[in-house]
Amino acid sequence: MMRPSESTNLYFNQAADQLKMPEWMRKLLITPKREVTVQVAFERDNGNVETVLGYRVQHDNSRGPMKGGLRYHPSVDLDEVRALASLMTWKTAVVELPYGGAKGGIAIDPKTLSTKEIERMTRSFVDEIHEIVGPDTDIPAPDMGTNFQVMSWFRNQWEKYHGFNPAVITGKPVEEYGAKGREEATGRGVGILAVKFLKRINVRPDQCRTAIQGFGNVGSHASKFLFESAFPVVAVSDISGTFYNPKGLNIPEMFSYSLKNGNRLEGYTGAEKLPGEALLELDVDLLIPAALGDVVTKENAGKVRAKSIIEAANGPVDPEADAILASKRITILPDILANAGGVTVSYFEWVQNRQHYRWTLDRVRQELDRTLSDAFENVWQHSATNDVSLRTAAFMLAIARVQRATELAGGAV
Ligand code: NAD
Repeated sequence: MMRPSESTNLYFNQAADQLKMPEWMRKLLITPKREVTVQVAFERDNGNVETVLGYRVQHDNSRGPMKGGLRYHPSVDLDEVRALASLMTWKTAVVELPYGGAKGGIAIDPKTLSTKEIERMTRSFVDEIHEIVGPDTDIPAPDMGTNFQVMSWFRNQWEKYHGFNPAVITGKPVEEYGAKGREEATGRGVGILAVKFLKRINVRPDQCRTAIQGFGNVGSHASKFLFESAFPVVAVSDISGTFYNPKGLNIPEMFSYSLKNGNRLEGYTGAEKLPGEALLELDVDLLIPAALGDVVTKENAGKVRAKSIIEAANGPVDPEADAILASKRITILPDILANAGGVTVSYFEWVQNRQHYRWTLDRVRQELDRTLSDAFENVWQHSATNDVSLRTAAFMLAIARVQRATELAGGAV
C-alpha cells in the first residue's frame, strides 16, 4: 500500500497535470514549510516516566495562518501527519477560508491512559511546540483521539507562556470560548453536501438508501442530519459491527443509545447485526465512510455496490481504489470538500474569539450552509467544464488558489 503522503501527492499531481503546472511549482507547493518531531515525556500515574513522539507539520501559509487538528492515535507518524497537513491546505483553499494547512499528533493510544495522564502528556507536548503555534501562525483543533477537554488543557498551557488568547486553538468547550455548532459541524456539513449532490443528480432524498461507516462525531451527526432530511439510512457501523435495516434505521434512537453507551452501538438490538466490513459492500445508493482512512482499497473496491460515495473521513479511498471506482462510474465527493464543515466552523470560532463576540447557533448553521454550498457549486461546475472527477476539480481549484497566493506574495516568481 502507498504511504499516506504518496496518496495525497498522487491526487495533487492529477490536478497539477490538468493545470499544466511546471515541476518546480509542484515541488514548492508540495514541500511542507516545517516539520517538527518532539520528545513528549510525562509522568504515568504509577510514577514512571513515559516517553513518546509528538509531531507538528506546517504545510503551507500562503493564504493565512495554518490550521489543522491534533490526533492521538497509535498509527500517528511523520508521514501520516505530513499527508494530513497537506490535505488541510487544499481543504481550507477549496472552501476559501483564509487559512493554510497543518496537522499534528502523538503516537499513542489515549484509551491506555488515565485522564490525568492525557492532561500531563498534552501539557508536555505544548511545552515543546508552544513557540511555533499561535492565533496568527498555526491554530490546532481536535481530531481522532482528542476532544474539547484536550483543547482546554492545550490553551491553558499555551497561555502560561503567551498570555490570554483563546484564538490559539479551536474546538474548545462552548462555555469556554467554543463555538455553538462546532461539535455537529463536520457531520452536518456532510449532510448539507449530500442534499446538494442529490439535487444535482436529480434523485429524491427518500429514494437514496444510505450506509454510513462510523458512528462517532462525524458519522452520528451525518446520520442524524440525513435522517431528518428523509434519507433512508439503512446501515451504520462502528467498531462493534454493522447495524442494518433495509427499511431504514431509527437513527434518533441509535443516537441516544450510543450517547448513553459510551459512544458505542454495541448491544443495540433494534436492527439486524452484520460483520463490520459488510457495510462497504451493501447494495445502497450512497456510501459514506466516516471512520478511518484507507478503508476502500484495490482489494475491496470491486465489491462496492453504492452508486456514489461521500468521503466524510480523511483519505478513505486510496488512489488504486479511486481508479477502480471511476471505471465503475461511481461518483465520489472528495474528503477535502466533504468533511470541510469542521474546519469551517473552527474558522467561525476563531473569528468570534478575535472579535470577543458570540454568534447564535442559527447564524453558525446559516454561514456553514452558505460556505459549503458555494464551494460545492464551484467544484461541481469546474468538474463539468473541465470533464474531470469531482476530486480532481476540487484539487484544481484549491491548488490554483494556493499557487496564486504564493505568486502574489512574490519571492517564488
Ligand atoms: P471518532 O473517533 O469520533 O469516531 C470514529 C468512529 O469510527 C467510531 O464510531 C468508531 O467506533 C468507528 N470505527 C473505528 N474503526 C472502525 C471500523 N473498523 N469499522 C467501522 N467503524 C469503525 O472520530 P471522528 O471525529 O468522527 O472522525 C472520523 C473521521 O472523520 C476521521 O477520518 C477524521 O479524520 C475525519 N474528520 C473528522 C472531523 C471532525 O470534526 N471530527 C473533521 C474532518 C475530518
